Amino acid sequence: MASDKLYPELVEYIFNYCGKYFWRKVNFASVKVPASAIESEAANLLMYKVLTEGGDILCDKNISELTNDGYEAYKLRIAKRIFNAHKEELELNLCPKCNKIARTPLAKQCRFCHHDWH
Ligand SMILES: [Zn+2]
Repeated sequence: MASDKLYPELVEYIFNYCGKYFWRKVNFASVKVPASAIESEAANLLMYKVLTEGGDILCDKNISELTNDGYEAYKLRIAKRIFNAHKEELELNLCPKCNKIARTPLAKQCRFCHHDWH
């Protein structure tokens, strides 16, 4: 299991690769968001564009408000929500030695302790 706390590298990883856990649970009111976008690794980025360019396309205020304070704030909010709600099911590529997050899902070397599991 992952650690109980978020750290910047983990925020980055969750934001970049785990967006589907969040977006597949959202009910979209009036916009047609392709399932392929929601299930893609880049879901968080794609949805940022949808939210900021599409105006009030979503009925859920909690969702549209995620982008209110810009991209960096959005990133952190999304990562926090995903982490808190899906901690146990996230596919995290953790270092077998120090248990910290790798740079990408396919990385086999740790950026923290430099352990190599090739
Ligand atoms: Zn490590």
